[in-house]
Amino acid sequence: GVNNKLFDVKYKVLLLGDTLVGKTSLQRFIAGKDFRPDIGSTIGIDFVNKIIPVEKSKINLQIWDTAGQRNFRTIGKNYYASTKAFVLVYDVTNEESFHLIQQFNQLIEQTGLDIERRYLIANKIDLSQNRKVDEETGRRFALRNSMTYFETSCKTGENVLELFEQIASDLVRQH
Ligand code: GDP
Repeated sequence: GVNNKLFDVKYKVLLLGDTLVGKTSLQRFIAGKDFRPDIGSTIGIDFVNKIIPVEKSKINLQIWDTAGQRNFRTIGKNYYASTKAFVLVYDVTNEESFHLIQQFNQLIEQTGLDIERRYLIANKIDLSQNRKVDEETGRRFALRNSMTYFETSCKTGENVLELFEQIASDLVRQH
């Protein structure tokens, strides 16, 4: 029959990374809001919903931000419980934000959650003049840590939707 439901299944996706790497901007893009070059460190949006069709199903990704908290352990347990995909974001113009990925990764490994679905996001690739972490370095790290690698720009929108489409499709295949 006709599928009238808004969505068939909902999955929680958690964005992790240093402050100012672009987590809020990724959410804003997904929510259809304009890019803001000037938002600075904001009180993040808790989550946005994005319905993505995969084959005959409508997948609702509920995309959560961690509100700029560096220390994953200080984030309430409710934040990461039942997470199905972890999106680790860094800013390619900021080496420190790349080094912090290792720590975020260790922290999620310590939660004992199913962390099979991990994505490494090299954001702000539009700022090529100021790029400090090259693609090769990012890809190598992702490969070594069983993460899927994406290069994105919230300014141009490059690869942002593709990232979440990939996550939705991976989750459908897994379940
Ligand atoms: P958050 O703290 O991780 O949520 O980061 P925000 O989304 O608040 O972004 C921090 C700053 O970086 C803001 O001024 C954004 O406009 C800017 N920004 C985010 N993504 C990009 C991007 O892909 N390219 C450029 N040029 N700036 C970005």
